[in-house]
Amino acid sequence: MARKTVLFRILRYKPGHIDPPVYQDFKVHLTPAMSVLDALESIRLTQDAGLMYRHCCHHASCGTCACIIDGVPALACTTRIEAPAGGIITLEPLAQHRCVGDLAVDTNDFFEDFDPRWTSLRKGEQGPASRRPEGVNQLTRLENCIECGCCVSACPVIPEKDPFLGPAVLAAVNNERRNRPRDAATLLALAARSDGTRRCKRHIACSRVCPSKVYPARQIADLQRAIEDPSAKQ
Ligand code: SF4
Repeated sequence: MARKTVLFRILRYKPGHIDPPVYQDFKVHLTPAMSVLDALESIRLTQDAGLMYRHCCHHASCGTCACIIDGVPALACTTRIEAPAGGIITLEPLAQHRCVGDLAVDTNDFFEDFDPRWTSLRKGEQGPASRRPEGVNQLTRLENCIECGCCVSACPVIPEKDPFLGPAVLAAVNNERRNRPRDAATLLALAARSDGTRRCKRHIACSRVCPSKVYPARQIADLQRAIEDPSAKQ
């Protein structure tokens, strides 16, 4: 029996070589439970060793393999290949980030907007004490955001002329405000800047694509409420 194949249509770009970008098709034989990242690895190993993309953890923890899959920002590692209409899956680099080659983007600008003093911790959900390990009084956990950049790629406000801190940074500000109440006023002042929450137009595109349940649009709405009434309990 013939093996099922899928055509990957990938936007290729190599500064000075494949420039301007062009789409290139690769036929991939499907294997059970294949992810988009598995397919990229197969293409690189068997068809084109020069294909550029980023990856690390393979389980939605590092955020590095984010790209645009059939028009929607998503993680390649956790996107299963379902039988696509017409047998074609289109892959493009994340928008709003500088492409350095094929699907690999430069995320330096994105990370620069995160203050290094912000922690990646948040208060953990406190289950019953009987379920905590002996000697542990309180749990903390890592913030959900894996800094994949999908929300920034999906946000229709970011390409506009006026600068916008963006959904990931504002979600981090809201997390930090809750973690460090003594710094809440400073963090709210940051969110209230002209490039802060007021630039959000409630498209909700960020929350729709976030693979990590950060719900950045909800975090921005929280910040807006707190800016309007800093004394309100949230
Ligand atoms: Fe990725 Fe969600 Fe963090 Fe945005 S908020 S960078 S989509 S994990």
